[in-house]
Amino acid sequence: MPHPLLDLFPAGSGVDSDGTLIIAGCRVDDLATEFGTPAIVVDEESLRARAREYRTALTSRWPNARVVFASKAFPATAVQRVMVEEGLGLDVAGGGEILSALRAGVDPALIVVHGNAKTTEELKIAVEAGAGLVVVDNEDDVDRLEQLVMPGRTQGVLVRVIPGVVSSTHPHVQTGQVGTKFGLTPPAARRLIARIEASPLLDLRGVHAHVGSQIMDPAELAAAVAPLAALGTFPVYDLGGGLGARYTTEDRPARVDEYVDALLAAARAHLPAKAEIIIEPGRSMVNGSAFTLYTVTTVKRDARTFVAVDGGMGDNMEAALFGQRYEAVLACRMHDEDAEEVAVVGRHCESGDVLIDPLRLPAARVGDLLAVPATGAYTHTMANNYNGYRRPPVVFAREGEARAVIRRETWADLFDRDV
Ligand code: PLP
Repeated sequence: MPHPLLDLFPAGSGVDSDGTLIIAGCRVDDLATEFGTPAIVVDEESLRARAREYRTALTSRWPNARVVFASKAFPATAVQRVMVEEGLGLDVAGGGEILSALRAGVDPALIVVHGNAKTTEELKIAVEAGAGLVVVDNEDDVDRLEQLVMPGRTQGVLVRVIPGVVSSTHPHVQTGQVGTKFGLTPPAARRLIARIEASPLLDLRGVHAHVGSQIMDPAELAAAVAPLAALGTFPVYDLGGGLGARYTTEDRPARVDEYVDALLAAARAHLPAKAEIIIEPGRSMVNGSAFTLYTVTTVKRDARTFVAVDGGMGDNMEAALFGQRYEAVLACRMHDEDAEEVAVVGRHCESGDVLIDPLRLPAARVGDLLAVPATGAYTHTMANNYNGYRRPPVVFAREGEARAVIRRETWADLFDRDV
């Protein structure tokens, strides 16, 4: 019987005869020896396969379409480079993400710039880089852009619209409902569209909506199409990201083809046949290709059993921020029977620094390796230095070889900004 959690790891993962997890041909104990723990490990081929799956699913059904990876989900230059090599554009939401997108070799025309509070400096970086589309969220974005665009040139823009869709996801990641800080209600969007259409410096390319994140039912994502269509006929409709990822065996997000079918059914019903469609997947693009490898530092069997690891909310804020549920395995003891119910906790000085609770594990021991699958999305993104924590490396594994694409922070890095 394969381990019941094995299929939360990237496709092709296996277990060696001694019970050690193997990802992309690499034994996890070897990865721990070479790169230390905690480490975020990415199965590179699985990441590439997912990018291709998205691109093929969309462009085979609607040729005038583009997938742009929402860089915020895994803002590593190496990850952005994989997306570029697989033919995707990049969605960026901040100055640093624009700069890393350029380092990753993206064609600037395929950059889509987001943000509800873009600074003048960030917009300047975007305009000077030649970013294809800036998604304006408010009047002030337009004021700033009109100051920045050189006379005789134009900047392509989309207007971010609130589609009025309440999605069934955690409130912290709902973005499509009236009252969200992102975008404009349709009446306000209409006014801004009229203003942009009259501007000699801006080229209104179309409209954008993003309903939220970790949404399992594609019908909720497709519900944004009709409100966008109601704003008029444009060359481009950007339908955002938001498809849910699988974190646990109970999660049942739609498959990519089902999601694309749902979006395009709505597009066929409401959008001009010749329009360009953009989608911006983030979480569902990267989550399943990565896992986090920790070492158990202490096991406390008292009123409860706490298995504490050498990371926590310093490398994974998802559990603390919105209660994201994860699973985990003792990665060198995959043949052992589960023996107890534990809480897997981090090493940070917060009671909320709980990675997984409850979880059934074999009786954990100090020094065991613990692997948490499905940690590709928004973990590296929000890694931090809480309690003097050194942010972990990002390791790419492929066909039995592994390489760090981001090294672990050093103690010296922690003081780099002292003046
Ligand atoms: N597009 C925009 C504008 C977003 O704000 C986000 C996420 O917050 C995304 C795309 C990616 O969403 P997800 O990671 O849920 O696919």
